[in-house]
Amino acid sequence: MHIAVLVKQVPDSEATVQVKADGSGVEIEDRYTLNFFDSLAVEEALRIKGQGGDVVVTIITLGGQKGVEALRTGLAMGADQAVLLDDPAFAGGDEYATAMVLAAALKGMQVDMILCGKEAFDDSSGVVGPLVAEFLSMPSVTSVVKIQLAPDKGSALIEREIEGGKEVIKVSLPVLLSAQKGLNEARVPPVMGVMKAMRAEIKKLDLAAIGLPATVVGRAGSKEEILRYHRHPQRPAVTMLQGEAADIVRQVVGLLKEEAKVI
Ligand SMILES: Cc1cc2nc3c(=O)[nH]c(=O)nc-3n(C[C@H](O)[C@H](O)[C@H](O)COP(=O)(O)OP(=O)(O)OC[C@H]3O[C@@H](n4cnc5c(N)ncnc54)[C@H](O)[C@@H]3O)c2cc1C
Repeated sequence: MHIAVLVKQVPDSEATVQVKADGSGVEIEDRYTLNFFDSLAVEEALRIKGQGGDVVVTIITLGGQKGVEALRTGLAMGADQAVLLDDPAFAGGDEYATAMVLAAALKGMQVDMILCGKEAFDDSSGVVGPLVAEFLSMPSVTSVVKIQLAPDKGSALIEREIEGGKEVIKVSLPVLLSAQKGLNEARVPPVMGVMKAMRAEIKKLDLAAIGLPATVVGRAGSKEEILRYHRHPQRPAVTMLQGEAADIVRQVVGLLKEEAKVI
């Protein structure tokens, strides 16, 4: 069985992100980490491998040097091999073009299951996985919290989160599944794993290797264009009211009349 895991290196949740003064982009502090949901996807692939049988786990990213860090984290956790999709032609791609490249690379890999995150913490569109499945004409199930493979590995029972409950779905393989919080707890890579991952060879695939024309990848193949970013408006300062309850009520009523002008 071959499981591919799609991973993305994203800004750490503590990293400072500033919108540029002209709104043309964002400046991100250089603190990156493996996307949280992708770490759950890697963990799940390793758990399936741990259940026995001949299972190979390949982790894949589209990205430059930052992507290599995501791959090394996945290798350190225990993945068997890693693939970096990197070519100047891939730059500036939207979700559609990103999924197009990932799908083209996966087409040649004979995968039985593709795992990815529910969404990436930075751009958070949550569409790359389902788009990859669509391009590969395979089913996809999103926000997955449990995967139970049939003994013959030809199908799986999937639990996914819905408002106020869970949905149980039977799906045939090959399938793409996106990981939601609750699927598992990702392991911390062991020191030996980290050392092994530093030395591991990472396979690189460029535009020629995936066999797509330059017109359908990167900016040229994108369907969307980000026009500008906006900062949230600054919140007005908070006023703390002092005094007894009755006094505070009088002050609140006064403020609602005089300042907010709502009564
Ligand atoms: C017009 C436009 C131009 C852009 N230009 C750039 C750019 O120049 N550089 C840049 O970094 N970003 C760029 N982006 C953002 C980039 O396209 C998105 O980060 C990417 O498409 C993934 O979307 P997302 O982060 O919302 O992923 P989601 O759909 O939220 O991700 C879901 C899951 O898909 C998988 N996944 C997502 N992205 C990747 C990936 N790259 N490799 C492997 N798996 C992945 C992960 O498992 C992830 O958890 C651009 C976006 C637009 C709209």
